[in-house]
This record gives sequence, C-alpha cells and structure tokens, in this order.
Amino acid sequence: MRTPRLVLLALLVAVAPLGSAAKTEKLNGYAEFRRDGLIIVDGQRVRAGRATTFKGKAARSLDAIPLGYEVQVKGVRLADGTVLATEVEAKPNGTALFEADVRKATDEIEAIWLKDGVMFEPKADGGREIIGKTRDAGADVDRVRGIMDRLLPPYVDRGAIRVHVVDTKEWNAAAMGNGAVWVYSGLVNDLSDDELAIVLGHELAHYTHEHSRRGAKQSLLAQLLALGAVAAAEKIDNDAARTTAQVASLLTATAFMSGYSRDHEDQADRVGLRYTYEAGYDVRQGPRLWARFRDKYGNGDKVTNFFFGSHSRPSDRIRNIEHELAINYAQ
Ligand SMILES: [Zn+2]
Repeated sequence: MRTPRLVLLALLVAVAPLGSAAKTEKLNGYAEFRRDGLIIVDGQRVRAGRATTFKGKAARSLDAIPLGYEVQVKGVRLADGTVLATEVEAKPNGTALFEADVRKATDEIEAIWLKDGVMFEPKADGGREIIGKTRDAGADVDRVRGIMDRLLPPYVDRGAIRVHVVDTKEWNAAAMGNGAVWVYSGLVNDLSDDELAIVLGHELAHYTHEHSRRGAKQSLLAQLLALGAVAAAEKIDNDAARTTAQVASLLTATAFMSGYSRDHEDQADRVGLRYTYEAGYDVRQGPRLWARFRDKYGNGDKVTNFFFGSHSRPSDRIRNIEHELAINYAQ
C-alpha cells in the first residue's frame, strides 16, 4: 500500500505553509477565473479550508462567489504557491465614486484622437505634440484585437474593450478608464504574439482593476469637472477659447493615463501575467521582454512611458515577474 502514503505525503507538502514564519498575505482584486475549486484573485490561486471565514452577505463559499465580484482575501501562502484564505470578503462590483467622470473624460479624448486621426499631447502654448497617426482598422489592429480577445477574463464583455494602433516606432501602450487601449506600432512590429500578450495583459489589468478611477486624485477631478470637459468646449464659438478648454481637459486625461502608482503597476504585472497564462500564451517570455525594454530605454526611474510607468524600475519588475513565475507558473 505505498501509493496512498505517497498521496498523503504529497497532500501534506501541498498544504504546508511556505517557510516557518508564514506571514499573512492580503489580496485585493476580483474573482476572475474558477478552476479545481479555487478562484483566482489578484492573479493568485485562492483556496478555502475549514477555518476560512466569509465576511459579508455575498457568499459563504468560494463556489458561491460570482466571477467579476470584488474580493478581498487574507491568507497564507502554501508550498504549492496557492493562498489558503483565512478570511474572504466578496461584494458586487458596483459603480464607484468618480467612475462615470473618468469614463466621460476618456470617452471624449478617445473620440478626438480618432476623429482627428492623430494621438497628441497638448502643449502649454495651445499647440500639439504629435505622437502618431491613429488607426482603428486594418491588419495590425486585427492582430492586436485577436490577442486581446483571448486575454479577456470570462466576466468582461468583448465590447467593453476597444483596441487602437498608433503609428510610432516607440514601444508603448496605454489603457484608458473607458476601455480604450492604445498600442504603438513599434510594439506591434517588434514583438511576438507571446510578448504582445504580456503587454496587453498588463494594460487590460489596468482597465479591469479600475486603476484610473482608484488612482484619480481628487484635485485632478475637480479641475476636470470645473472645465466641463471637451463636450462643453465644442459648443464654444470662439476658436481660441475652445482650444484652451480642450487642451486643459486633455492634460487632465493624459495625467490619468500616465499616473499609475507603483502598487497599481505591480498589480497590473501580476494580473496581466495571469491573463497571459490563462489565454495559453507563454508567460516565461516575461523577464526577457522586460530585459528588451530595459535595453531599449534604460533602467532609470525617469523614463516617460505609459507602459513603463513612472515608478517602477525595469530590474525590479523583472525580479517581481520571476517571483510570480516561481510561485504560480512553475509546473
Ligand atoms: Zn502600467
């Protein structure tokens, strides 16, 4: 009777806390996938045990939590990389403060960049710093769209995301709070599908985890609301006044896109890798992809790049991603 003993041993190894002093880990995210009695939150595999307590009225078990619900988990990391929850709180993902404002402002910017056929950043003198021509159809858009469709977690409607390509050789991508994702043609031309999936997964995570809204500084929003954004500007007869109003609201919207905190960037890396993995792309390309970014743009903090973000050094991200690969994708 050797086999049962081996199975028992394997079970004991699987549920033993990692290291002698297992510290409590906290996960903040959404129930995104369900597999083998586990749910995925914040890119991590969460399991429940007899001692797991469920807070809130929404659910009394992991099975009862609908995908897309906002979930907070406290637990300990086990040797198999899963998180054994001590406490789970789940609630519906309702409409939060500022969500409608972020959506409206970014809808307007997206419409202008597509209508004018160029992505641009406004300059203080009222001029435009052109980033590149925008495209929302054609072979490149179809390729990016095809990868994005595979990455979408099951609770996100395909129609919630729109994909646009911007013609510039730079390597960059950005997600807006309204579901618009902009990918520079430099990335489309230079990356494999696996690498593009890692970039797009990262951007998709910014959207699904509502980083624009969560990171929105109240002062920025106050400015935005005071300006009445671009829709009001369109009704202004005077050309100069209209341009000024548009520039001001554009400045605010671009600040939303590039202002993600380090925590949000790290979460986008974790969750983006999960999307990449679940879609069947090769997550092990991650460290090499970041090394390519580092070779191209350097290792400094001051690289102005939406995808780089302004707070994380590429070498730190490579280390974080290697850690994720070890705890979640080693098998
Ligand atoms: Zn990012």
